[in-house]
Amino acid sequence: MRYLVTGAAGFLGTNLCLNLLEDGNEVVGLDNLSTGFSRNLELLKKNPDFSFVQHDVVLPLPGLGEFSFFYNLACPASPPRYQKDPLQTFRTSIWGAWNAIEYVRKTGTPLFHTSTSEVYGDPSVHPQKETYWGNVNPIGIRACYDEGKRGAEAMLSDYFRASGNPIKIVRIFNTYGPHMDPSDGRVISNFLNQAIEGKPLTIYGDGTQSRSFCYVSDLIAGMRRMEKSPAEFIGPVNIGNPTEFTLLELIDSIESVLGKKPEVEFLPLPGDDPKQRRPDISLAKEKLNWEPKVQLKEGLGKTLSYFREIREG
Ligand code: NAD
Ligand code: UDP
Repeated sequence: MRYLVTGAAGFLGTNLCLNLLEDGNEVVGLDNLSTGFSRNLELLKKNPDFSFVQHDVVLPLPGLGEFSFFYNLACPASPPRYQKDPLQTFRTSIWGAWNAIEYVRKTGTPLFHTSTSEVYGDPSVHPQKETYWGNVNPIGIRACYDEGKRGAEAMLSDYFRASGNPIKIVRIFNTYGPHMDPSDGRVISNFLNQAIEGKPLTIYGDGTQSRSFCYVSDLIAGMRRMEKSPAEFIGPVNIGNPTEFTLLELIDSIESVLGKKPEVEFLPLPGDDPKQRRPDISLAKEKLNWEPKVQLKEGLGKTLSYFREIREG
């Protein structure tokens, strides 16, 4: 099959492209390299079935021929990165979804959209089911991402209702693992790299906020199951690990993987930081027969080895 993957140089894009290539597919990766990790692209380019197009999805997509399937991942996902140029984050979510629809409208190529647990905002319902409509501050510093992703979900849903063309929407919860950019600012990349450098781990707030961390191979397996699911199942479906940890508990797990107690430093909590987050994955279990397999300590160990390895060149 021939796949188009936007955001291919990013963390999830690279893991997805590697998985598609391993399965013997041809992959065209498209990315504007704004938050992409150059090392990822070098790796993908080694495969003759991979080709790369540098392009910004806020502009209409160039003619790249027909595809069997279109994965739309382009968008910065780390809060400091998506907040750095919030208007561009909005454009990427909204115009990126629009340009993806324009590309597939005539051919009816299935369009897979990567949404996020951030559509639930700072959730007042816990754990989060797909039927929960969320609690998002529409004018806050996370809105460029949260509302951009909500807008894209709305647009895809209207496109589906109007055309009947196939779409798939997944809501991804915090994911970590190899091919993350060590400096992207998310909590696991920060903590592991601070630990490697012998620096204190920077806890924002008091560390009692919670997240549910999914190892990337589990996430990609869930996305591929969604790709292959019957056309009538369009989602949105939560894909994430339902085991919840406070940041203080995350640090305990990092301590056991490191084999020593890291120093910690408490810093101010950024605005609108969700207090808790945990996916209800009953729908993914029922419709995709999917659930994550990798436990946090195992995943942290593999991610730590990856970060150590890339430092050694
Ligand atoms: P990432 O920042 O590592 O990768 C995003 C990629 O998109 C980068 O290579 C970047 O250069 C590219 N990009 C950004 N804006 C673009 C634009 N305008 N045009 C073309 N390319 C552009 O992020 P990620 O973790 O790989 O996330 C991928 C997708 O999954 C995103 O849509 C994100 O919202 C979603 N998601 C990720 C997570 C997670 O935990 N990783 C959680 C929820 C949702
Ligand atoms: N966080 C932290 N220290 C860091 C980076 C993040 O304490 O160095 C916190 C952040 O404030 C949030 C949680 O860790 O409460 C998860 O942050 P991340 O940026 O990974 O993802 P989010 O779920 O907030 O989008």
